[in-house]
Amino acid sequence: MHDIAGQSQQKIHKQKILHPATSICALEADGPRKIASAKGIHVTDADGHTVIDGIAGLWCAGVGHGRTEIADAMRQAAIDLDYFHTFGGHTNQAQELLAEELIAMAPDGLSHVFFGCSGSDANDTLVKIAWQYNTMRGKPEKRKVISRWQAYHGTSISTASLTGLKGFHRAFSLPLDFAKHTDFPHFYSQATDGENEAAFTARLLHRLEQLIVEEGADTVAAFIGEPIMGAGGVVTPPKGYWQGVQEICRRHDILLIADEVVCGYGRTGHNFGSDLYSIKPDMMATAKGLTAGIFPMSAAFISEEIHNVMRTASKELGGFSHGYTYSGHPVGAAVALKVLEIMKREKLVENAKATGAYFHDQLRAAFNGHPHVGEIRGAGLVAAIQLMADAPSKTFLDSARKLAAKISEECYRRGLVIRPLPTMNSLALSPPLTVSRDDIDTIIDIAKAGIDSVMGTEA
Ligand code: PMP
Repeated sequence: MHDIAGQSQQKIHKQKILHPATSICALEADGPRKIASAKGIHVTDADGHTVIDGIAGLWCAGVGHGRTEIADAMRQAAIDLDYFHTFGGHTNQAQELLAEELIAMAPDGLSHVFFGCSGSDANDTLVKIAWQYNTMRGKPEKRKVISRWQAYHGTSISTASLTGLKGFHRAFSLPLDFAKHTDFPHFYSQATDGENEAAFTARLLHRLEQLIVEEGADTVAAFIGEPIMGAGGVVTPPKGYWQGVQEICRRHDILLIADEVVCGYGRTGHNFGSDLYSIKPDMMATAKGLTAGIFPMSAAFISEEIHNVMRTASKELGGFSHGYTYSGHPVGAAVALKVLEIMKREKLVENAKATGAYFHDQLRAAFNGHPHVGEIRGAGLVAAIQLMADAPSKTFLDSARKLAAKISEECYRRGLVIRPLPTMNSLALSPPLTVSRDDIDTIIDIAKAGIDSVMGTEA
């Protein structure tokens, strides 16, 4: 048998596993990092090195790791009903209860939910529903979907097309034609000289409307956006942006899809990022925090109006021809119910708001005037630190130097997982929503030490 640690394991790994968004050559050179266990806000690797999970797995573990009561709920669910499909009207108690809870907490107007397995499939489902909705309304040519450069909406063929990171397009000859991209709404890096925030917002909104008019509003089905962009840089929108986007969408009969895969379930200090920015989406994609990452599950929401059109159409077309083997999985739904129960009992959304405010205050204080930090972004318990070659003169770093990745490695060595966002030369933090102020102090101390150590020698 093979050794589970060390060389022989690395060899097996190299030969057998294609890792997500990973350079095959870099993996061969550096080897994998094996994570062995996790508890609370910590994870421990196969070498026995324990670190703070400053990114909640991958923006997922809102309730933290290793909750026995979730494992118990999973076990019981698997004993009661391990699996049965939900096609053709089959249902189970857990998905019924979960749907009730989710619709009660979702932004106003969202009345129905579809369960899937991932953020990608939630967005993919919503694009298909937008197409079906328009086909049923007699507007089948209304199919294009507008997203933003730097957005992340997934890696399926449609959602990789909507993702606005070119690294996810290049090797696949994407995006498909239905996907159109508009401006990246990051004031700090995208505003022109002397342009203030209001003028920046107005320019972006004008360009969005121009794109719609050029493409033809009668060919545009939807606009999709993350309330706060996640993988593209934890980018908070400029003031007035979402209000403006909504007005434009309404004016041109374009559906608004909120991709809440990162922002949903308390991350921003509100149930959803849409609540933070007063967005009234027609559709909303969620995953990650829904089950705290413990079970692969997504929930895609639609409005009553969309549902009504689909309902009427189903008389002619014989139904909603879409779905997954694992839609409404009874074990996944039981996990989600337990996660929501813990979030309510421990007031984790409130904690994300209060501790999140402390987090941002402390980050700003720690990096105020720092020569290599230009901006702190985010809300609640999600933040990014913008690395700069020289902050006072606003000189951006060359991404080829990979300093964010080097800092992330240095922080790991010092006891913190922090995520490099390479296209932005930024570092992302999104710790479990259970973090205390003391945890925040430790996270920031390590992040600062990691940044100072690498930038001190390399900048
Ligand atoms: N949307 C957003 C905003 C995301 O951050 C992600 C994943 N990081 C996705 C969609 C895709 O989710 P998944 O990887 O579960 O398909």
